[in-house]
Amino acid sequence: MSTLQLPGLVDVHTHLRVPGGEHKEDFASGTAAALAGGITTVLAMPNTTPPLSTPGVLAETRQKAQQTIRCDVGLFTGANPGQIEQLAVCAPLSAALKIYLNDTFGPLRVDDLPALLACFELWPAGKLIAMHAEGQSVAVGIGLAAAYKRPVHFCHISRRDEIELIALAKERGLPVTCEVTPHHLFLNRADAQRLGPRGDMRPRLVAQDDVNALWDHIDDTIDCIATDHAPHTLVEKLGQPGGPAPESPPPGVSGLETSLLLMLTAVYQERLSLERLIDLMANNPRRIFDLPEQPETYVEAEIGPAHTIRDEILYTKCSWTPFAGMTVYGRVQRVVLRGETVFENGQVLAKPGSGRLLP
Ligand SMILES: [Zn+2]
Repeated sequence: MSTLQLPGLVDVHTHLRVPGGEHKEDFASGTAAALAGGITTVLAMPNTTPPLSTPGVLAETRQKAQQTIRCDVGLFTGANPGQIEQLAVCAPLSAALKIYLNDTFGPLRVDDLPALLACFELWPAGKLIAMHAEGQSVAVGIGLAAAYKRPVHFCHISRRDEIELIALAKERGLPVTCEVTPHHLFLNRADAQRLGPRGDMRPRLVAQDDVNALWDHIDDTIDCIATDHAPHTLVEKLGQPGGPAPESPPPGVSGLETSLLLMLTAVYQERLSLERLIDLMANNPRRIFDLPEQPETYVEAEIGPAHTIRDEILYTKCSWTPFAGMTVYGRVQRVVLRGETVFENGQVLAKPGSGRLLP
């Protein structure tokens, strides 16, 4: 067993569900879950109700965040076809732009070319554009990065053909980056069958061959590990106990509290170096999204003794994880943010409102 010191981790893909989904997560609970997972900066996704697509909704949400966040948080603006003209005004209120090219939870989706081009023209050059792009949509994103000569970040890449295409685009010098999630690295289609709605998310879990391709690219093509923490209650997923199963349970799983444990397990099993883990979970996301450094901030983690992930110990409001029952070889012992101990001995100590809002 050994104790390690890591920098405060950054998760660039988190659904904190404010506004409109506070029964499944809110800023106080989601940022507590982040700290419990060794994450001190999160970027919150915009597919909320209403979505974070207008300056009004962004300003209101920022106000709520300021009062309740326990770690540092930035908000994404979501490209909404009916409100594209407001993008430039949204930019100063958010950390980056998210464009959904494929279906996800909620109505945000840009599926015509004029709207897509408007995003690239209106969003300020200094701020990043991130895309939910699956399958051939990845090629669309790469084409836009090349045509507009500006960085595009691909969210939760999950399949062999996608990661290989991104590797090729990088080889050609195109300004593209990508993230993968722990669930796409540690679970596959067989797990999706075993887990039912608890193993359903977008992009879906895929074949072991795709999982292997992601691991083959972990040391070069992949830039970040991001959780895509997307909590839903078990009732939303499975229905009332004893009642009928919902017809179309919402896709998404929690991930903030298990991400580092799983990636430390990969280090323990020598599938990943510790240096690379730090790049994937701290250095690269900070650089790609141009996020501020956090002085006197670090995570003490333990690598070695086996333990089992359990639903009961979680801080997320949804209180379940698709990784329950899995044996891991990593644990978060203590988190220090700007000199203050914010997590220790399984307890989150940071008060709501003590985090900083970015930018
Ligand atoms: Zn997501």
